[in-house]
Amino acid sequence: MLYLTEPEELSSLWPDEPSYRADQIRKWLYQSPVLEPADMTNLPGDLRDGLDLWPFAIETEQVADSGRTVKWLMRAPDGASIEAVLMGYPRRTTLCISSQAGCAMACTFCATGQFGFERHLQAGEIVAQVAYAAAYLARNGLGTSPPRVTNVVFMGMGEPLANYANVKTAIDRFTGLMGMSARSITVSTVGVAPAIRKLAEEPWRVSLAVSLHAADDELRTSLVPLNKRYPLEDVIGATEYFVQRTGRRASIEWTLIAGTNDTLEQADKLAAIARRLRAHINVIALNPTPLTSDQPPSRAATTAFLSRLTGAGANVTLRDTRGQDIDAACGQLRARSLTIGT
Ligand code: SF4
Repeated sequence: MLYLTEPEELSSLWPDEPSYRADQIRKWLYQSPVLEPADMTNLPGDLRDGLDLWPFAIETEQVADSGRTVKWLMRAPDGASIEAVLMGYPRRTTLCISSQAGCAMACTFCATGQFGFERHLQAGEIVAQVAYAAAYLARNGLGTSPPRVTNVVFMGMGEPLANYANVKTAIDRFTGLMGMSARSITVSTVGVAPAIRKLAEEPWRVSLAVSLHAADDELRTSLVPLNKRYPLEDVIGATEYFVQRTGRRASIEWTLIAGTNDTLEQADKLAAIARRLRAHINVIALNPTPLTSDQPPSRAATTAFLSRLTGAGANVTLRDTRGQDIDAACGQLRARSLTIGT
């Protein structure tokens, strides 16, 4: 499980090898990842044979959207599950990664939230998701999309800002060893206000996505229990600080749920927040899970909600629900495998 070793400590693993050996292995791990040690062609065969790369086994791999979406359910040796989803677009290939196994935030509409918290992922487990996807792309490609991970979004299982130290180390490795641009990395949070402020102080300028889902405290507390601790005004204030300090724009994420947050009143309040933050709004229809009765909105309700936002001067994108046939929303593959035992 070499991805769990600190990159600078790799050389101590092979004291009898020449000093350049650890550099060769580091390059394979972080610059040109491969699925199997056998593909590390410049290493001696006996050394390759003894290498163990991944800190997880691939429990399921599902392909959807005519080959443009691949979802993995990965299993760590202690049983913790990790989900990652690769999505191909014409000019980018985005990997959605997990920062925790499970999640303690208990958002009512989210499959991961229903299962509660298992544990934080180590930095190496977070980095290994990106390395695995990069190795998969190098071998298989993804249709006509770029055959490399161009964007990383922390929108899989877990609240990344609740696992700050490991997420920070992972981003250090993405932007350092792996040569990714910080702009192509999006940290998505449900509103851990003090950690948003901390993120603004980091040397790299990642993108920030704030999942609001409701535009007043009463509704938001009913959907996102963390709102009791960090009410909307705290989250908005921290986001304003992030934007001001980093010069980056923030986006607002909004999972649209029938009869709950798809009203015109919510749209008006959301538009006002977006104007204040000069934030783009990404709306995504709920991907229903087997564990709650929440449903996605009708087409008419979605259209009315979006029109109200654009009429109020907000910038909005309706995101496609990628991989619906493979349960590709946050935590859903795991939910399905636990529910029906696949
Ligand atoms: S929506 Fe995100 S923060 Fe909320 S429970 Fe699910 S994984 Fe956790």
